[in-house]
Amino acid sequence: MSAKKVHVRPLGGSLDRDGHGIGRSGHLVTYGELGILFDAGLRPRSALPPSERHTHEPRAEFPRFRELTVPVLDDPLELPEVLPVEDVDRRMAVGEEALPLYHYLDGIKELAIVITHGHLDHGGGLPFILKHYPHAHVFISTASYAISEIWWRDSVAIAEREGFPPLYGDADILRVYPRVTFVEEGSIIDFHGVQLEFVRAGHMLGALACRFSIPIAGRRVVQGIHTGDISLKPSEAVEGADFARLVSGSSPDVIMIETTYGDREPVPERVLLAQLAQTIDRCMNRGGKLFFGAFAVRVQRLFATLQRLGVMERYPIWIDGAGAKIAQVYQAHGVPGFEKVDQHFVENWKMRYDLVRSPGRAIILAPSGTYEGGMAPWWFLQLASDPKNVIGVPSRHMDPCWPGSRILTTQPGDLITMSFNKKDQTVPLLAEVEAFGFTAHIEREEILEIRDRLRPQNTLLIHGDREAMQRVKDAAAGDAVMTEIGELYEI
Ligand SMILES: [Zn+2]
Repeated sequence: MSAKKVHVRPLGGSLDRDGHGIGRSGHLVTYGELGILFDAGLRPRSALPPSERHTHEPRAEFPRFRELTVPVLDDPLELPEVLPVEDVDRRMAVGEEALPLYHYLDGIKELAIVITHGHLDHGGGLPFILKHYPHAHVFISTASYAISEIWWRDSVAIAEREGFPPLYGDADILRVYPRVTFVEEGSIIDFHGVQLEFVRAGHMLGALACRFSIPIAGRRVVQGIHTGDISLKPSEAVEGADFARLVSGSSPDVIMIETTYGDREPVPERVLLAQLAQTIDRCMNRGGKLFFGAFAVRVQRLFATLQRLGVMERYPIWIDGAGAKIAQVYQAHGVPGFEKVDQHFVENWKMRYDLVRSPGRAIILAPSGTYEGGMAPWWFLQLASDPKNVIGVPSRHMDPCWPGSRILTTQPGDLITMSFNKKDQTVPLLAEVEAFGFTAHIEREEILEIRDRLRPQNTLLIHGDREAMQRVKDAAAGDAVMTEIGELYEI
């Protein structure tokens, strides 16, 4: 009779055949009929091979040949009745390929689901999996729950609007709450003898890493760590990970560690801050407006950064769209600096038009960072043709399938087309363009530092594309495993 063993099987959030390793996170740890599933995400479309990327074809044709259309500011018929939903949801792949490989859950009798944080690719599929495993127990922080719920509702809305079958509906969202046990940093939970200990992960409000201990019949305890997405450095809005707690205790048998930026050379924070401060000064001194297209979950960080730079005292700052919804969660959780964030929300179309028409300076933050959804394309179309203004994008390396990448590749003065509310408009790009690459992921050297402190028996690299994982593996002298979806790793 073979003894039961502890296994790790990535159901998602590890390498697929195309070398993509981000999206639809789900790492299953099993011991017999007991399972702990770390994350229940959805896969963003950007992680799909081009052939599968849904119906939005990349608009590769050069906008120069298009007729120039000028936004009509005064026509009330131009106003959409509801705000367009955010890019994070537009990026949601449709159907089963968006989900972790849940058929590997067959045979699991007791299932714990740990949601590490409130990003769509980590918690976006929770209502779906609970439809099929209604007795699973969910462990999640209050902030991650509040933020995830925003994505769940938007996901349902966009499925309805775009006419594809939703993975779950409003009734399924309502069924999540009764299955939830809220956990925060420092929480220790017993799940059928398995101990789960939660550790602050930085990254974003409410993000948690998890240490687990599984007693093995008659032998010993198997210990492991799942980092979720993690950042050791504090960002303006949230503290960094609790490093001391993360590396405390005896060497674990396994660590699953994220490698999102394993192949990037980090730009020092002070360089990014100086670049941002200089850009703001330049723009404001010439009486311009500065618009950032940012991911809804990064708007809060930009807002806090602007405060830290002393910008808020000098210039009005506005937050539009889902960036405001998530900022409300920060406010409700008492994050310093967010006490009065609601005074910065753009609440209606009159405010938007007043802001655009007024000659005054302003800084505006709105999703999406890809410029595919949310209010970003609208703000872009209003502000791109004035050379006094600045248009901000979240990275210099944008996937060419996103409209935001065209902002980086269009020459000054050339025409550029953006689609807002399914309607294309073309404007000359005369504003200054800047990329602001603030990140919230652990760096390669920090991954190695954690590994050196912990000396785990097994280092499983997760949540990174092939190049990123390879760089970490090389730097770790080969002593780490580039995990693949569907593979079984014995601990
Ligand atoms: Zn994340």
